[in-house]
Amino acid sequence: MSKEIIRSIKGTQDILPDKSNRWQALESTIHKTASKYGYKEIRTPAFERTELFSRSVGEETDIVSKEMYSWIDQGGEKLTLKPELTASVARAYIQHNLGGLRPVNKLYYIDALFRRERPQKGRYRQFHQFGVEAFGSEHPEVDAEVIALALSIFNSIGLDELQLKLNSIGSPQCRKDYRDAIREFLKPHFSNLSETSQKRFNNNPLRILDTKVPQEISILEDAPNISNYWTDDDKVHFEELLTYLDYINIDYKLTPRLVRGLDYYTRTTFEITSSKLGAQDAICGGGRYDGLVESLGGKPTPGIGFAAGMERILLAMNKDSSKNSQVQIYIVGIGQSVQSAIIKLAEDLRRINIATEFDVIRRSLKAQLREANKIGAKYALLIGDQELKSKSVELKNLSSGDQEKVELNKIIEHMNSLSY
Ligand code: AMP
Repeated sequence: MSKEIIRSIKGTQDILPDKSNRWQALESTIHKTASKYGYKEIRTPAFERTELFSRSVGEETDIVSKEMYSWIDQGGEKLTLKPELTASVARAYIQHNLGGLRPVNKLYYIDALFRRERPQKGRYRQFHQFGVEAFGSEHPEVDAEVIALALSIFNSIGLDELQLKLNSIGSPQCRKDYRDAIREFLKPHFSNLSETSQKRFNNNPLRILDTKVPQEISILEDAPNISNYWTDDDKVHFEELLTYLDYINIDYKLTPRLVRGLDYYTRTTFEITSSKLGAQDAICGGGRYDGLVESLGGKPTPGIGFAAGMERILLAMNKDSSKNSQVQIYIVGIGQSVQSAIIKLAEDLRRINIATEFDVIRRSLKAQLREANKIGAKYALLIGDQELKSKSVELKNLSSGDQEKVELNKIIEHMNSLSY
């Protein structure tokens, strides 16, 4: 009787070899671009104390109130699998006193996150984000740099049809005044609000602006704009940022409803969306959080960052953009007696950095050539008894079909001279 197979958990995905090359291409672009901008990688543990997220992300957010994978471990500690990265990075920044070592710390990460959401296309329970967090400057230069860095990564991997949505949610005083104004504005509409929004009305009315309910969206059309509540400094900060973005030719759409509810968020907020995605069209969300480090017990330190969803980026990415095979040579063996010569040759080629494969299930000549084509090898190198005796091999260019005889002891030299 065959045993029932064990399947992966709903909302999680295996990244199989036919997809992993696209992940690698994206990861390598992230590393290269981040380093071009002077950002250094930080890696934090997969789980943290639950309190870190309830204190920084906020008790009443969806993430903390219903989506975290939390448990009490054998030692009685309350732990949680990371549902987001900013809190962990800020924790590490404070714990290791990075701010005491240098005035500005520009960090980036690539990591897996866990949220118990309702799975759908572009929304998973384990997903990946890359992001940056820049601590130590309150000035809009760094806001412009962080936005430029995100767009540079997206452009390098060939993502187009992107839109940068931009807003400023001002300083804490501005938000307090705006919160009151939104409450005042919504008061007469209270009975028409959804149950969720009615709850948010008291705790966190700014979150009502995120609503996806059509009736609420139309009510909000006439809501006051946060820009009317900016302080003079908020206004100067935002205007400077816009000037920098214009100067480096970055287009943006001013989006007054783009707000974040938590108190430690300040000023710049942005989101990058792709029109190639359906309902889940946001690939990147970011903003300033000048109050975060202090709220976690560190010295007051301004900061700004973003997080971008890697699964969504890959969904929006042109499918062919990283299809090219890495394999340059496929060695085709004719007959069993040549196996040891093949193993040696494959090793020699790999030692000079030529990606090489050969058949390990002893297939026919025809089947081996078929495989070489299938995996996209650039050349097939044919060796049989005959070739071994004459100390030569046949080298076949698989795209042009041209074939030439090359002396066995000259093959390394010959391959080095070819441009592939
Ligand atoms: P957030 O941390 O919620 O601000 O999300 C930042 C980005 O992560 C979003 O713009 C999405 O691209 C991505 N993201 C968030 N939640 C998920 C999820 N459950 N599955 C896949 N990607 C997600």
